[in-house]
Amino acid sequence: MSETVGQRYRRLLWAIDEELVACGRRPGDVTLVGVAKRQPIASIVAAIDAGLHDVGENYVQEAIRKFPALPPVRKHFIGHLQTNKAKAVTQAFDLVQSVDRPEAAHALDRAAQALGKRLPVLVQINVSPAERFGCSPAGAGALADDIRALPGLSFEGIMAIGPLTADQGEISRAFSLAAKTFDRVGGTTLSIGMSDDWREAVRAGSTMVRMGTALFGRRENP
Ligand SMILES: *Cc1c(COP(=O)(O)O)cnc(C)c1O
Repeated sequence: MSETVGQRYRRLLWAIDEELVACGRRPGDVTLVGVAKRQPIASIVAAIDAGLHDVGENYVQEAIRKFPALPPVRKHFIGHLQTNKAKAVTQAFDLVQSVDRPEAAHALDRAAQALGKRLPVLVQINVSPAERFGCSPAGAGALADDIRALPGLSFEGIMAIGPLTADQGEISRAFSLAAKTFDRVGGTTLSIGMSDDWREAVRAGSTMVRMGTALFGRRENP
């Protein structure tokens, strides 16, 4: 019999704790975000029933369609943020991980203030050549300071997507750059690590991993 989503969730948490202990960190120090894009609602609900507290989505329309069917969870926007979607994103999500430029921050701030909300955000930095989005690690401090001055937003840390490669050295170098940027810029959350590179991310100091495939199985075609 194949593993259920609930069993996979528990096995992943256990594996993450094992990795944390192996590198001298405390078990439980990493938050697992289940990335729900193009996954069936039943799988997402099964993971939440097993204890998953955090769900990530890349697309606003998909989120708006799916979220009402879910039990209460913290909802993370992890996709590229278009400023004309700022209001919809602010309404549908509890946290935005992908702020990579001042225009996006200001659009979210206006939307959050209009809704009487203070929206936690992460600054997405670009640490891999193939990645299209994210601000430069060198520019992260200025963007974080910008965000800290906005009453509708709360700066919480750094997010990055690792390079699409099997080269562990390259992955580790990219994550170490993200970790150094996080140390310099501040915050409480370093969101690095996905299904294929979460071990390197945990070793580099990740406090939040985002996993789709490893938790829910392969995504449905768009
Ligand atoms: C799709 C996606 C993930 C999850 O990817 P998996 O490889 O399925 O774990 C994590 N973060 C972001 C930003 C994504 O777009």
